[in-house]
Amino acid sequence: MPFFDIVVVGSGGGVDETNLSGYLLKPCDASWDDGIIALEAGSGHGALGHILKRNPTLFGQIIADDGPSKRITPFTVYSNVQCFLITHAHLDHISSLVVSAGTMGGDRKFIYGSPQTLKDLETIFSGRTWPKLAGYDEDDPVSRLIYRALHADGKYKSVSQDVSVRSMTVSHGESDSGGVYESLCFFVKHIPSRHEFIFFGDVEPDSISMKPRNVNVWRAAAPKIPHDLSAIFIECSYPAGRPTETLYGHLSPDHLAQEMLNLATEVVLARDSSRKRGGRVRKRQKRDMTSPEVLYGALAGLRVYLIHCKETFSSDRPINHVIRDQCRDLLKPHNLGVEVLTADQGMKIVI
Ligand SMILES: [Zn+2]
Ligand SMILES: [Zn+2]
Repeated sequence: MPFFDIVVVGSGGGVDETNLSGYLLKPCDASWDDGIIALEAGSGHGALGHILKRNPTLFGQIIADDGPSKRITPFTVYSNVQCFLITHAHLDHISSLVVSAGTMGGDRKFIYGSPQTLKDLETIFSGRTWPKLAGYDEDDPVSRLIYRALHADGKYKSVSQDVSVRSMTVSHGESDSGGVYESLCFFVKHIPSRHEFIFFGDVEPDSISMKPRNVNVWRAAAPKIPHDLSAIFIECSYPAGRPTETLYGHLSPDHLAQEMLNLATEVVLARDSSRKRGGRVRKRQKRDMTSPEVLYGALAGLRVYLIHCKETFSSDRPINHVIRDQCRDLLKPHNLGVEVLTADQGMKIVI
C-alpha cells in the first residue's frame, strides 16, 4: 500500500543550478491542496515551471481553485506548501526558499531545521544579503516564514496533520571553523499507517568521518526495515574512483556500498535480537557475522533513491544514472536484496 507521493523538483547536487535538491511531499490519501511539505529548497519555482510545461498534469487538476481548466503554476503549488524541512543551510539546499521568500502565496509557512541551520538562515535573511522575510515570532503579522527548531532528541514532531518527523544529526565534512559540519537526516512518518522513509541531506561516510554517526541512523532504521520503512533517499555526490581527500563531506559509490553493508549488518543484528526476545534462538545458533552469506537478502524490500549527484556535463547519460549503475555493480556480489534507483528531476515517486 502506498503512503507518500513525492515530486522531485530537483535532485542534483550542483553545479547545475536548475536542478538542486528540492522535493514536494504529501500523503497519498490527501490531495495536493490539503497541504504540501517541502523537503529542502534548492530548486523551486523556476525548475517546477519547466517541469509543469513538460507534464502539466503532474499534480492532477486539484490544485486549481477556480475550475479544472486553470493552468497549475509553480505559484499555485508553492502557495500550498505548509512547511520546509531543511537539512542544512548550504545554498544548494535553500536557494529557492530565499529567492521566493517574498513572493510565496498562501498561508505563512514554517521552516524546520536544526538551531544552527536556522541561525545560518538568519545571516541570509538579515536585511543585507536578503530582506528580513523570516523570523521566530509566530505572532508577528509581517513574517511570512517562521523559524521552528527541530531538535535531534529522538522524538517525532508533527509537521502537518498526518506527518511527523524525527531528525538525526549526521556529519558532512570538516567545518571551516573547525570540527565537523553538521547536517540532518529525517525520518518522515505517515502517522496513521506508521510507515516512514529516511531522507538524507548531505552526508559523509562513517569510514572517513572524524565523527561517524551514520551507524546511529542505521541502528534506528534497522528494526523497521522493510515493513515500516521501505525507502531511503541518500546522496551519492560523486562517481566511483574519486579520491577520499576530495569528497568534501560527500559519498561516492564505494562508500555508499559500504554504508549499505553497515545497514544490512544492523538489520541482521536487529532481527536476531528480536528473535532472542521471542525466545526463538538458542545460544549455539549465534551467527558468524564475518561470513558474507549472513547479509544475503537483509535489505530485500528496501528501495534506495540516489540523490545529490554532482553534474559534470561530461557524459551523454545523466550523471545520476552513471552513479546508480556503479552502485549496483558494487552491491551486486553482496546480494543484499536492496533496489538502487534514481530520483530524476520531474519524477513523481510513490512510496
Ligand atoms: Zn548539497
Ligand atoms: Zn552541503
